[in-house]
Amino acid sequence: MKKNCLGVMVIGLLLMVVVGCGLIKSVGRNPKGEELARLDTLANYKNGSFENLAEQADSANRHNRWLFLRHRPKTIRPSSALPWVKTDLKTLAAPAPTVVWFGHSSLLIKTGQGNILIDPIFSNHAGPVPGLVTAFPGTKHYHAGDMPPIDVLIISHDHYDHLDYRTLKKLKDNIKIAVVPMGVGSDLVYWGFDPKKIIELNWNQSVTLPGGLHVTATQTQHRSNRTYNRENKTLWASYVIQIGKYRLFYGGDGGFGAYFKQIGKRYGPFDLALLECGQYSPNWPWTHLWFGQAAQAAVDLRARLLQPIHWAKFVEADQPWNEPIKRLLPAAEKLGVQVNVPRIGEPYTLGDPPEKLVWWDFE
Ligand SMILES: [Zn+2]
Repeated sequence: MKKNCLGVMVIGLLLMVVVGCGLIKSVGRNPKGEELARLDTLANYKNGSFENLAEQADSANRHNRWLFLRHRPKTIRPSSALPWVKTDLKTLAAPAPTVVWFGHSSLLIKTGQGNILIDPIFSNHAGPVPGLVTAFPGTKHYHAGDMPPIDVLIISHDHYDHLDYRTLKKLKDNIKIAVVPMGVGSDLVYWGFDPKKIIELNWNQSVTLPGGLHVTATQTQHRSNRTYNRENKTLWASYVIQIGKYRLFYGGDGGFGAYFKQIGKRYGPFDLALLECGQYSPNWPWTHLWFGQAAQAAVDLRARLLQPIHWAKFVEADQPWNEPIKRLLPAAEKLGVQVNVPRIGEPYTLGDPPEKLVWWDFE
């Protein structure tokens, strides 16, 4: 009996050490030394933090710290598993850019010029602590090991629902190049990435990769942080991705602003815009798109097709899980925006007609 107790204690202690180490590592590391000195020279880095271009984004929004006590609808999580499609991503052909969505903002885009992986979260939770902010059932069937060789990893910003230590630890050796916003490279280096494989971009900076993919970081209206007390120490970005004759826009996270029009004018039109839809709260009115605003953003970007992302995987705000898509579709119809809402894991190729299946109509 005594022996058993001791065994349980040792296992418990080991588990605490493993979880504790993962947690510490997961928090990442902000730029310091030479990396920090380089940031200090940038126009959008002031007094030790990055800033949005629109003043309003940084203005003091009266943060309601008690908002989490509000009644949350039961339907905030789906009552049953989201439908999903099993695809062999390694053998999947891509006659033209072919997109696979894994829920929230994780995407694989297979192209003739190389495979692109965006904001991958395969840990089944978004945050440093396993068991909190867990993924919905039906969204946990794809793993790091399912990915084909990745020519470029693209990260939009350092929030936990976009930059996941546990996923990247597994993917690291399968990634040729990582393109990240200024400062986010420090996290990757801390997690064992070869610094030579990391390209940090500021807004409107571009890189052409060996296969011919041309990636430009563009602005968004957002924030960054992996701990409560250290905000905006790394940059946040959206991306324009030129794939031969095709042009894609990945919005990352970002509130509505005139910048969509500016990006559309400078880099558009786009064959596809991947824009956030969901996770709106009165506590962050400037840093996420609100009900249906993705439709107007797609118009401003001059996008031929819109795929809503940043929904259908994690609870982050107070709306029923499928409200974002239900609010977006009428707004898009009103503005004449074509929308594609594939199931998780269901590939589509640019040029194909949008998927018509309404798979989200359940609580
Ligand atoms: Zn996010």
